[in-house]
Amino acid sequence: MSAVRNSSNISVEDGTATVKGWVQDVRALGGIAFVTLRDRFGTIQITLPKKKIDPELFEELTKLPRESVVAVTGEVKASNQTALGLELIPTSAEIYSKAGVPLPLGVVDKVNVEMDTRLNHRFMDLRKPEIRAIFELKAMMVELIEECVRENGFIQVYTPKINAAGAEGGAELFKIQYFDKPAFLAQSPQLYKQILMSTGLDRVFELGPAFRAELSNTNRHVTEFISFDGEMSWIQNEEEVMAMIETIVDHVLTGLKEKGKKQLEILGKEINVPARPYPILTYSECLKIVQDAGLPLKEGDDLGTEGEKIIGDKMAEKGVDLYFIAEYPEEAKPFYIMEKDGTPYSFSFDLDYKGQEISSGGQREHRYDRLVARMEKKGLNPADFQFYLEAFEYGMPPHGGWGIGIERLLVKMLDLGNIREAILFPRDPARLTP
Ligand code: ATP
Ligand code: MG
Repeated sequence: MSAVRNSSNISVEDGTATVKGWVQDVRALGGIAFVTLRDRFGTIQITLPKKKIDPELFEELTKLPRESVVAVTGEVKASNQTALGLELIPTSAEIYSKAGVPLPLGVVDKVNVEMDTRLNHRFMDLRKPEIRAIFELKAMMVELIEECVRENGFIQVYTPKINAAGAEGGAELFKIQYFDKPAFLAQSPQLYKQILMSTGLDRVFELGPAFRAELSNTNRHVTEFISFDGEMSWIQNEEEVMAMIETIVDHVLTGLKEKGKKQLEILGKEINVPARPYPILTYSECLKIVQDAGLPLKEGDDLGTEGEKIIGDKMAEKGVDLYFIAEYPEEAKPFYIMEKDGTPYSFSFDLDYKGQEISSGGQREHRYDRLVARMEKKGLNPADFQFYLEAFEYGMPPHGGWGIGIERLLVKMLDLGNIREAILFPRDPARLTP
């Protein structure tokens, strides 16, 4: 089977092979015709010398519309004319599915197609090897993440995606009808992974969908993304959490550089693995840089897209791709983050990659009274969070954690420009199909 190439769609016996795939191209040059057949692993050339082939078969194969799906059986010959070093002279064929004409989108045509058109016909877009390569790398990324967290004692968990309350800010919740009650799609596993810290499952991770009703149309926000969350107990400070993320991100970058060689080559990309430890900037340092660059931000403000970009450019000048921004004002962070007493700051951080936030994390407030006080300060009603708060009333260890949008990591790693490139079927305010 794989005697000829790394493909499940070609089988060879005694010099006779059957190949299955999509008809990428048909070229008829009078006495000879060529059909290029494509599958997951590449292309093979079918050569049809008119005189040596059954006329009906010749007619059938050379008249096939592009992108039809066929099985072709024939004789395998060495050839120095093709990339594979082989060609196939057909003796029979089976047409599984004839493609319509014209195609909604070309697979090999070198024309610039709008992102919207590509996404509208995503199945066709994904026939391009360089598009599929992104998702092969994404799958490898998930494998590498899981490998690294398991090695570090994290247990994989699944928390509910239909919830009674959100953790990350009211405006971004998708409200749904849950029988006779209102409910919300999970913005993050935040509340549940924290509850788990009270159980003895003291290191947990989850890779699952997160939903945000963000009515903004940017190249880094979608309404559904895959969040990689981790939470760990018994920490002394948030730096232990930062060290863990750094270990994981480094494992992913190093691993993909090696495992994903073929896909990176198809994409024409290289992965830069930054030196460790990643630099840590404080919020205050960043605020000053951003203000000096002319942005009218004041103490307590979020750095924002523009601010993050300014810091990213500054770090790029120093050859730094990945860096932490730590000690955000407590005001800019959610209720569950621990305050740094006697200061306006908190034990929180973001991890930024080339001028964009890819992760937020920190040490959590594990003391019941302080947690309730923080909720009230943020204008939340503790009664709405009773199921969560209860876990803090009967013995909760100190803990901290992070959330990383895996598509943001992939986009920055491969310089894809738009988060939609890293999602098979992206969801945004304007897109609900395919
Ligand atoms: P941003 O300020 O960039 O919108 P955030 O601070 O609101 O992000 P968090 O609540 O900190 O996001 O979520 C943790 C991580 O989840 C982010 O660092 C990011 O990687 C990812 N993420 C959050 N919102 C989105 C989104 N709408 N689309 C894609 N990824 C997202
Ligand atoms: Mg954040």
